[in-house]
Amino acid sequence: MFDRGPELAGGGSALPPGARRAVPPPDDALADLLAAAPSPGLAHALTSLDPTRLDEVGLTGAVAAWDRMASWVAAQQARVVLELARRERPRLAPDSYVADMIGCEMSVTRRAAQVLVDRAWALDAAPAVADAMMRGEVAVAKADAILRGTEHLPAELAAVVQATVLPDAAHRTVPQLRDALRRAELACAPDLAAGRHERARAERGVWLRPSTDAMAWVNALLPAADAMRVMTAVDALATSCGPDDDRPADARRADALTDLATTVLDRGTDLTGAPLPVHQGRRPHLQVTVTLAALCGDTDTSAELAGYGPVPASVARAIAAEASWTFLAVDARSGQVVDRSASSYRPSAAVTRAVVDRDVTCTFPGCRVPAPRCDLDHTVPFDPRRPAADQTTTANLAALCRHHHRLKTHARWTPVHDRTTGTTTWTTPDGVTYSRDPVPVPFEQHPLPQPSRRPTQDARDALDDRDDREATGAESSWRGAAVRIAMIRPATPRRAPAPGGPPPTDEDPPPF
Ligand SMILES: [Zn+2]
Repeated sequence: MFDRGPELAGGGSALPPGARRAVPPPDDALADLLAAAPSPGLAHALTSLDPTRLDEVGLTGAVAAWDRMASWVAAQQARVVLELARRERPRLAPDSYVADMIGCEMSVTRRAAQVLVDRAWALDAAPAVADAMMRGEVAVAKADAILRGTEHLPAELAAVVQATVLPDAAHRTVPQLRDALRRAELACAPDLAAGRHERARAERGVWLRPSTDAMAWVNALLPAADAMRVMTAVDALATSCGPDDDRPADARRADALTDLATTVLDRGTDLTGAPLPVHQGRRPHLQVTVTLAALCGDTDTSAELAGYGPVPASVARAIAAEASWTFLAVDARSGQVVDRSASSYRPSAAVTRAVVDRDVTCTFPGCRVPAPRCDLDHTVPFDPRRPAADQTTTANLAALCRHHHRLKTHARWTPVHDRTTGTTTWTTPDGVTYSRDPVPVPFEQHPLPQPSRRPTQDARDALDDRDDREATGAESSWRGAAVRIAMIRPATPRRAPAPGGPPPTDEDPPPF
């Protein structure tokens, strides 16, 4: 009934902030449809619309109507999430693993799933916002802004602030809505502003976000004064390069920030001179997995930078040129290492390195906590009546972050590691299974050509040093293998050793 051709001038209810439309009234039926409250009937009617038969006014009205449907869907979804969270929370107190369950089911990160859980609990405490979403009067992003903008307030005050901003929420952008929330809070309780800042300080942090072209964003949330301190120092370092430096100003700032971090890693000490913490037997370092052929410069097969993902072989070679290495042979298909065992419950440094290098991250589906920060868990629980050498092996150890280690221990999720495929399969107490594939390992797709470029000397040294690798066979077969390499910059740069100084070391003493 709504497919009446382009003469229909549809009309919607949502307008940009401050805008007022002056157009002829649309067809009454279409106008009613585009202004209707969300419901299964509205979804059906919108689905039956032919977009090619609507003019621009009708199309924008349809976009707004679908957005109201999205609010309704999110509110309905929150109802089932809340029910799930209510059932799960008492069973597994004090930790909650409902976000893990949802994350596995939807193949999203725990953080993304936690957004749904947080929204469900927040809407339960803010019925006015939930009702507005059900009526399609407030978009999902705006509802989230209202919930987050009032979550720090006492319930009564939160309700007052929400009631103040909700009537105009549909006609405000999210930033305008956040401004309105702060204004409403300050008007209702000005003395809370200082406390709010203190709470915000507690949420400061630094995050990495991969970008394209082997680049990445480092985002920091800082108190305003601290942010200015960082930028003032970076600006000072960037402008100290001299007038002959032809790098753009932004590039000089980026390099200055990197130099600050590199100085700390190279020294291996914090700003007071104390040694940096050692995790899993090694000090903080970069880890790259690359085929030896690519490392030698014979091919350009991409490498894997732990914590980031795939990078060009040239990036791995550049890191290798400034680092000392430890080699670990890994199977190109499964990421498995040559098995090693230890003689006790606690894994040896060699076994620890093997497991950390193999797993790269926590082995729970979707978790990206780096393996060096994880616990090493006995997949089949350690039995003191059996020989330790049969149990504390790379095959029976897996990296688990503290959260997912507790999930395995307390929530009865059971992992099984398949050595053939490298896949870890988790089974929930209800019998649902989710899998975590091994971190991809680069491998050479085609027979290797004869070396045509001059390999890096370090790579050739490694080829010649058969004691440092865990493989047997002729060099020709070894060159096709993938190796996972922990690249630790020596305290003294390898290319410019200090006269008479100690030789560079690539390992800290194991803590075991
Ligand atoms: Zn984890």
